[in-house]
Amino acid sequence: MNSLIRRKLVENAYRLKLSHKGFCTGAAAKVSSSNGAQPSNDHVGQQKSSNKSEPHDIAIVGGGMVGMALACSLARMPMTKHLKVAIIDSNPALSNGLSIKKEDPPDARVSTVTPATISLFKDIGAWKYVEQHRHAYFDQMQVWDYTGLGYTRYDARDVHKEYLGCVVENKVLHSSLLSCMQDTDFQKTIYPSRLSSMALNPGILSMGMNSTSSGLNERGNLAKLDLSDGNSLYAKLVVGADGSKSRVRELAGFKTTGWKYSQNAIICTVEHHAENRCAWQRFLPTGPIALLPIGDNFSNIVWTMNPEEATDRKSMVEDDFVKAVNSALDYGFGPHPKSSNFGSGGIFSWFKTDTTICANECFKVPPKVMKLASERMVFPLSLMHANNYVSKHVVLIGDAAHTVHPLAGQGVNLGFGDAFSLSRIISEGIAVGTDISEVNLLKKYEAERKTANVTMMAILDGFQRAYSVDFGPLNVLRAAAFHGAQYIPPLKRSIISYASGDQRLPIFS
Ligand SMILES: Cc1cc2nc3c(=O)[nH]c(=O)nc-3n(C[C@H](O)[C@H](O)[C@H](O)COP(=O)(O)OP(=O)(O)OC[C@H]3O[C@@H](n4cnc5c(N)ncnc54)[C@H](O)[C@@H]3O)c2cc1C
Repeated sequence: MNSLIRRKLVENAYRLKLSHKGFCTGAAAKVSSSNGAQPSNDHVGQQKSSNKSEPHDIAIVGGGMVGMALACSLARMPMTKHLKVAIIDSNPALSNGLSIKKEDPPDARVSTVTPATISLFKDIGAWKYVEQHRHAYFDQMQVWDYTGLGYTRYDARDVHKEYLGCVVENKVLHSSLLSCMQDTDFQKTIYPSRLSSMALNPGILSMGMNSTSSGLNERGNLAKLDLSDGNSLYAKLVVGADGSKSRVRELAGFKTTGWKYSQNAIICTVEHHAENRCAWQRFLPTGPIALLPIGDNFSNIVWTMNPEEATDRKSMVEDDFVKAVNSALDYGFGPHPKSSNFGSGGIFSWFKTDTTICANECFKVPPKVMKLASERMVFPLSLMHANNYVSKHVVLIGDAAHTVHPLAGQGVNLGFGDAFSLSRIISEGIAVGTDISEVNLLKKYEAERKTANVTMMAILDGFQRAYSVDFGPLNVLRAAAFHGAQYIPPLKRSIISYASGDQRLPIFS
């Protein structure tokens, strides 16, 4: 059995190599004129005209963080590194790179990445690039409620980890993935454009190429993508990594389920007198406010509120905004919680034989914000889930497949999970000679990721609902939940593990 699989692996890798030798030679020999921006093939390090009939194995539509994570992962795996991949995105950073200056204050757009994401980045060799720029590991977290009835402190040591997560600017994650991919001889072509239309069974294709084992030139077995600059390309598999308003999802006819929250998030970078090393989140009547360390004396604010309030807060003068932030993170809306509200552990004290490191730690007041260090940006919030992630020739990843409330900083982590899962399943398919556009193969990806994504979405939505109601009995229940998380060590460990990207549910396990 094992030797059969090994033989298949070797045969398929060899056949793939031969077929791609053919494509590379063909591509180099043919040059055709095209309108608008030209695709760039960084593999040969020069701008090159598009050959409209030259097929790609995979077209990744959207070279954001998740699309680039997929490209990078494909570039690094032995079974997929020979694939011919197109990346379509009009973001100039993809073609020209991005200069990130250490002396500039951090961007307002940051992501909290989980230990699971960090370890996937390490596996593909991208984390070393992140570490060359500003980033902030944090090993402590405090979550509390404006009513003053409850709080929970988390410590990485409770789950024998060095850190609970790391806050990184989105542009650093993006450029690190780009650098990591550029470090390989991956055959990628970057199309600095946008997908405008797509035909999934174009039917009549006469590309004048010999039949190959991967079946790339079989009539009708390709998707045709038309770009906004007039270029077209063909691909066996189209990956929609084009964000929450995905054109791929729309053109392929995937249905979605979801709703808009009547909330917007206002985000910005702020400065303190000293470095902040903890992630703070306080639940207010209108939504949570988070203060996340981002290195040096900077933190990032993610503050959820109703849309009218967000408009007001965005335009208020800086001093007033800073005062409002400090009030929201301190005494505004209600008192500081005290551990004595339920007695020291109170009804949960019977759990204290197996105590966690910070079960006895008192509530702490977050560091005072001194001034703004970036513009304020506002984002409407919604929950969206595509009913299916795959169909013949098409697969969705990242925000194109699902968007979640940012209250637990999980969105892009779920997207990275999708990207790494898809690249692994494509690799396994190639290893046994399966056509990479086959629905049965892609369904394995869907099955794996849907479970993880839907579970996380349900938890985040439940949290969002539970914390957006100001009602006496519910406030007490929430406080009890905070105390439960603070004083019941197995529950606390479980929550930390799940939020860190482990697949286990936050229950007693
Ligand atoms: C306020 C806020 C805070 C957040 N904080 C966190 C956090 O702390 N941690 C976390 O994990 N997540 C967080 N998220 C979620 C995270 O930002 C998203 O999940 C992530 O950006 C999704 O990445 P993506 O690559 O799937 O999509 P996007 O970032 O939307 O990228 C899509 C790409 O596709 C391109 N594109 C779009 N249309 C086309 C087209 N037609 N043709 C070609 N290209 C196209 C775009 O140019 C873009 O580059 C937060 C979100 C918000 C709103």
